[in-house]
Amino acid sequence: MLNRRSFVSSLGGASLAALWPLSANAAPVGRVIVVGGGMAGAAVAKYLRLWGGNAVAVTLVEQATRYTSNIMSNLVVTGQMSMSSLYFGYGTLTKKYGIKQVTGRVVGIEPGGLGGTWKLTVSTGGVLSTLYGERVVLAPGVQFDAVPETGQPTVPATILHAWEAGPQTEQLRQQLAAMQPGQTFVMTIPPKPYRCPPGPYERACVVADYLKRNKPGARVMVFDANAGITAEAESFGHAFDTLYGPSILEYHPSMRVASVDSASRTVTLLDAGNASHAVKADVLNVIPPHRAGAIVQTAGLANATSVPYAAVDVRSFESTQLPGIHVVGDSSRTTLPKAGHVGNQGGKICADAIIRAFNFQPPDPMPTANSACYSPVSSTLASWLTAVYQYDPATGSMVIRDQVTGSAAATEAKAASSDNFGKMGKWFKTLMSDTFA
Ligand SMILES: Cc1cc2nc3c(=O)[nH]c(=O)nc-3n(C[C@H](O)[C@H](O)[C@H](O)COP(=O)(O)OP(=O)(O)OC[C@H]3O[C@@H](n4cnc5c(N)ncnc54)[C@H](O)[C@@H]3O)c2cc1C
Repeated sequence: MLNRRSFVSSLGGASLAALWPLSANAAPVGRVIVVGGGMAGAAVAKYLRLWGGNAVAVTLVEQATRYTSNIMSNLVVTGQMSMSSLYFGYGTLTKKYGIKQVTGRVVGIEPGGLGGTWKLTVSTGGVLSTLYGERVVLAPGVQFDAVPETGQPTVPATILHAWEAGPQTEQLRQQLAAMQPGQTFVMTIPPKPYRCPPGPYERACVVADYLKRNKPGARVMVFDANAGITAEAESFGHAFDTLYGPSILEYHPSMRVASVDSASRTVTLLDAGNASHAVKADVLNVIPPHRAGAIVQTAGLANATSVPYAAVDVRSFESTQLPGIHVVGDSSRTTLPKAGHVGNQGGKICADAIIRAFNFQPPDPMPTANSACYSPVSSTLASWLTAVYQYDPATGSMVIRDQVTGSAAATEAKAASSDNFGKMGKWFKTLMSDTFA
């Protein structure tokens, strides 16, 4: 049997005998460090151990002590769900699957000296430590671009995105709850690709629903940098028109944010003809454009300004620039939507490919991933969108393939319903269990 050193030095040796499976007591032949314990990273870590057993030593480095789910966080903004319902701990991953968890922020990645290994620098409360692995998986989510400020920035910030669940989610909830009848909630949507295509329209709907029930005469104004609703257009368009109407929810496509004035809560927008419009809000919720998480940029994997995400071979999520480094979830540049369900699916494809690589096998040539998403459009109604993607060798990308009809389109709910709202809770529970339990 190969030990790690001979294994590493012989990477790529196609004629070597398979290593799999190893006995429970054997030393691991592959060390994987997963950076980021969110939807994608936690799934990679779990499935590496579930499928790879003791042959793979997995260390999960996460800067927070628990995960806060973005999924369902719009219902925390409206007070329908509690913040604590978004929390997921790492206890099961460590106890049940033997994943080593390190609380800290990865601040550096460099070749590790031994051929094929990587050295990661982790900062835990300012104290630096190092980790070594043959494979590294980067799953740090996204980082938000700064929005140009023309006024005096307020401290603490009053213009929130709440597009990464956490303190901002709770603060936006408080701002919404403090609104007076007749006031205006203004939100802006960044250009594609952004995290969770239906998410902003979902937020617009549930905020409109909250205002309709609690703040007479108040309304939501939505300014979208895109030319139209980017996901579940039929469902959201229908909800905008029939549940709310322009007196409660105004939707303006092709309006890009130029700047904000935090002190006066004013956003300046440019329309398609570059004419400038200043809009004053009582609550201003600006979702800025975003890019791959900082560590992906530190590694030099996502520095393009036009599409600032990491290019990967989607059969393995291995970087096309740095072999041995995989980028999964929202930080990767693929044709898959940036969604938690998809992060979970990509995490499994990545875990499978790493186990195969340790076993000197190529990745699955035709991986599939499914994407399902329920979107509340009020406090009782939800719609859904689902699609199955499969690797397409001709384009080297994942394309939508309806397994039954062969059609290349996502399927969406015909109408929002309370039945869908109930199923949404089950879907969320199942997805989070599949990722964290
Ligand atoms: C309001 C909202 C609603 C959404 N609703 C849905 C939905 O209904 N369905 C759906 O599928 N998706 C939804 N999404 C999208 C989904 O949340 C994201 O696509 C998903 O979380 C991406 O997973 P990820 O693992 O790439 O990133 P994340 O889940 O953000 O996880 C990244 C993790 O990495 C950690 N990290 C970052 N950098 C470092 C570092 N250097 N060192 C250590 N740790 C680090 C972070 O702390 C974080 O825990 C929604 C998003 C939002 C904002």
